[in-house]
Amino acid sequence: MRSVDDLLAEGVSGRRVLLRTDLNVPLDKQTGEITDDGRIQASLPTLQALRDGGARVIVTAHLGRPKGAPDPQFSLAPVAARLGELLGTTVPLAADVAGDDARAKAAALGDGDVLLVENVRFEAAETSKDDAERGELADRLAALADVYVDDAFGAVHRKHASVFDVAERLPHYAGRLVARELDVLTRLTQDPERPYVVVLGGSKVSDKLAVIEALLPKVDRLLVGGGMCFTFLAAQGHGVGNSLLEADQVDTCRRLLAEAGDRIVLPVDVVVAADLTDDAETTVVSVDAIPDGLKGLDVGPRTVELFGTELGDARTVFWNGPMGVFELAPFQAGTRGVASAVAAIDGLSVVGGGDSAAAVRQLGLDEEAYGHISTGGGASLEYLEGRELPGLAVLADGSGQ
Ligand code: ADP
Ligand code: MG
Repeated sequence: MRSVDDLLAEGVSGRRVLLRTDLNVPLDKQTGEITDDGRIQASLPTLQALRDGGARVIVTAHLGRPKGAPDPQFSLAPVAARLGELLGTTVPLAADVAGDDARAKAAALGDGDVLLVENVRFEAAETSKDDAERGELADRLAALADVYVDDAFGAVHRKHASVFDVAERLPHYAGRLVARELDVLTRLTQDPERPYVVVLGGSKVSDKLAVIEALLPKVDRLLVGGGMCFTFLAAQGHGVGNSLLEADQVDTCRRLLAEAGDRIVLPVDVVVAADLTDDAETTVVSVDAIPDGLKGLDVGPRTVELFGTELGDARTVFWNGPMGVFELAPFQAGTRGVASAVAAIDGLSVVGGGDSAAAVRQLGLDEEAYGHISTGGGASLEYLEGRELPGLAVLADGSGQ
């Protein structure tokens, strides 16, 4: 896989570079302001290196899930503004993805200039299952530039036009963020230092069962918290009240528990409440006494202690998924406690997942205390599952030139 440094060594001055980045930041629903600019920050090293090399950079990215048509709510305008602030320059935004305005603005770029084109998901073709539809958009994107750099690690598991098809049409290179993410994930999959402990939380068990299956043979311990722990607790025969439960996954969880023996570690207590509010009245209960009608919304203090002990001697940790509804103050303590224990290990600690990374920042934990905070939740999980990621496979092969 050629890297952006190979491209810089070839000389990039005056060349037009199409750069796919991950700028999918969370926006405040009321004000539309960016609430966490971590992904924009993470895109800067590659972008700045290309500018320093004199490239004319055309950035393409997606934001949220617009329905394949322009929608002002998902415009990249706030991102263009923030990107400009961080780079100390003006970043114009093309009104379209790869149409007349994008072409005109791309043609007007000078050396070291940056253009952002509008949300690539404003074109239904971006995410289409139809190769020809994606190909038509990829043709127009490719026509904007001479070479392609993919730095959107958070999107490499998608077979999308701006991630996959365009790379087949231009000489292609991996950006610095993609290279760094791959470097860390390789260290997790090839001979990790032991004990290797994985901590999983978050909301949907069905999303993460595949990764649990794939990781079980490789890890020394798997700690399960968050909304997904209740399906496991149900599989052990506990009542879970009104907590998140995926009834159709209970049998699978039961089988996994049987296979894993004591390597899967579940919570021993949980914080319950009647509803999801920031002034909810909460109670801590043992997992065998979850009252009917209440929801488990965080792991309890004895669980934080137990998980802390299980993490104590770990030399490699991968953590994905908050332990509770960390967005609300009454349910933050579990995530804060476990996140601190992950940070404290003597070895490589990796945080993966959009919400998990946001939790680290929002709870005021020290980002530097982690070995790596991945910007791509889905992508890092699929990589750990051992699946081939289309956006990486296409970068690795020699086509498109
Ligand atoms: P990531 O983005 O890090 O991969 P997920 O998207 O899987 O994480 O899950 C994050 C969400 O899980 C958060 O919005 C959080 O509120 C929710 N969550 C965690 N614990 C619970 C719980 N006990 N009940 C309901 N939702 C939960
Ligand atoms: Mg998430």
